[in-house]
Amino acid sequence: MELAAHLEAEDIVTWHKILHRQGWAVTNWPLEWGGTDWSPVQRYIFKERLQAAPAPEPLTYNVNMIGPVLIAFGTEAQKQKFLPGIAALDEWWCQGFSEPGAGSDLASLKTTARRDGEDYVLNGQKIWTSQAQFADWMFCLARTDPQAKKQRGISFLLIDMKTPGITVRPILSLDNSHYLNEVFLDDVRVPMENLVGQENDGWTVAKFLLGNERSGIARIGLTRGRLARARRVAGQMLSAGRPLIEDLKFRERLLNAEIELRALELTQLRAITAPKDASDLAAISSILKLKGTELQQMAADLLFEAAGPWSQSYEPLGTCAVDDADWAPGIESTYFFARAASIYGGSNEIQRNIIGKSILGI
Ligand SMILES: Cc1cc2nc3c(=O)[nH]c(=O)nc-3n(C[C@H](O)[C@H](O)[C@H](O)COP(=O)(O)OP(=O)(O)OC[C@H]3O[C@@H](n4cnc5c(N)ncnc54)[C@H](O)[C@@H]3O)c2cc1C
Repeated sequence: MELAAHLEAEDIVTWHKILHRQGWAVTNWPLEWGGTDWSPVQRYIFKERLQAAPAPEPLTYNVNMIGPVLIAFGTEAQKQKFLPGIAALDEWWCQGFSEPGAGSDLASLKTTARRDGEDYVLNGQKIWTSQAQFADWMFCLARTDPQAKKQRGISFLLIDMKTPGITVRPILSLDNSHYLNEVFLDDVRVPMENLVGQENDGWTVAKFLLGNERSGIARIGLTRGRLARARRVAGQMLSAGRPLIEDLKFRERLLNAEIELRALELTQLRAITAPKDASDLAAISSILKLKGTELQQMAADLLFEAAGPWSQSYEPLGTCAVDDADWAPGIESTYFFARAASIYGGSNEIQRNIIGKSILGI
C-alpha cells in the first residue's frame, strides 16, 4: 500500500536511521564518508526495490543534494562538520532555491547576501521550500554581487534555520498536506565559513545539484509499485458488472504504461552504465525527469480511476462494497500530489527546452 504518503517526520527519521545503521542510507557516497562500493546498477536495484515496496527513500535533500555537493565542493572543515549529521539525518536539510518570480528562471533570484565583517547578511524570500518546517539547515542561493551578470553574482550558502530573522510560513497544497513553505529572510547573519565553493560562483554548484536532483526523479520503482497497485485494485472493482481489469480500454492504458516504464528503465540502466563522458548523456537527466514524471502521473491517474469514490478515504474503510478495502487510503492525495511532479525539479517544459537544445540542436 502507498500509506507511506502519510508518514510523519519522525517516521522518516526513524526509517532513515535504520537504513543508516545498516550502511544503506548514503549508498551513492564514497566509502570514506559512509557510502558503499556498490556498482551503479546495484545502487539502482536497491533504490528501485525501496520505491516499489513502497518504503521511504533516505531523505533526498540530505543524501542526493547537499551531501554530494559538500563532497564535491566543500572545504575539509565543512565536510568534517556536516557530512556525518547529513548521512545519519541528525540534521534535516531543505532546499532554498526558488523565489517568487525565480523558478524556471532561477538565475533571476533576488535574495541578497551582503558582506558585513565575517558574516553575510541575507534579505529576501524563498518559496515552495519543501518540508522547511522540519529543517535544521537550509542550503540556499543568494546574490552576492548585484552588479554581475545574472548567473555570475550568485553564491551557495548554508544557513542554520535557528538563526534570528528566519520565518517559515506554511503553504497548504491540493492534496491537503503541509509539505510546502515560504521562507522569509530578514537580516539573517550567515558566517562566511558557510560559503560553499567560490563567492559568486554558486551557479556552478547549483547546476551540479540540479543534475543530481533530476536524474533521481524518474523513480521507476515508485511507478512500478503504483501500476501494480492499480492492477490489483482494478481486479477488485466492478465496471458494468465485471472487474475493471477486464475492460479493454483500461487494460490497454495499463499495459501501455507498463511497457513505457520498462523502456524508461532500460534508458536509465543505459545511462548509469555508460562512460561518464559519453556525449549522448548531455541531456539524460532531463529525459529521465520528463518521462519519469509523466509515467508517475499516468500511474496515479489509473489508480485513481480504478479506485473511484473509494480513493477519497484517508483511513482504512472497514465495511465497504469491496471485500478488502485496505488499499484505499491515500489514493486521492497520491493523485493530487502527482500533479506537482511535472513542476518540481525544473518544470517539464524546461526539460523539453534542454533536450531540444542539447540533442536536437534547436
Ligand atoms: C511540490 C513542489 C516542491 C518543490 N520543492 C522545492 C524546494 O524544496 N526548493 C525549491 O527551491 N523549490 C522547490 N519547488 C519549486 C520548483 O522548483 C518550481 O516550482 C519550478 O522550478 C517552476 O518554477 P515556478 O513555480 O516559479 O513556475 P514558473 O517558472 O513561473 O513557470 C510557470 C509556467 O511557465 C512555464 N515556463 C516558464 N519558463 C518557460 C520557458 N522558458 N519555456 C517554456 N515554458 C516555460 C513553466 O513550465 C510553467 O508551466 C517545488 C515545487 C513544487 C511544485
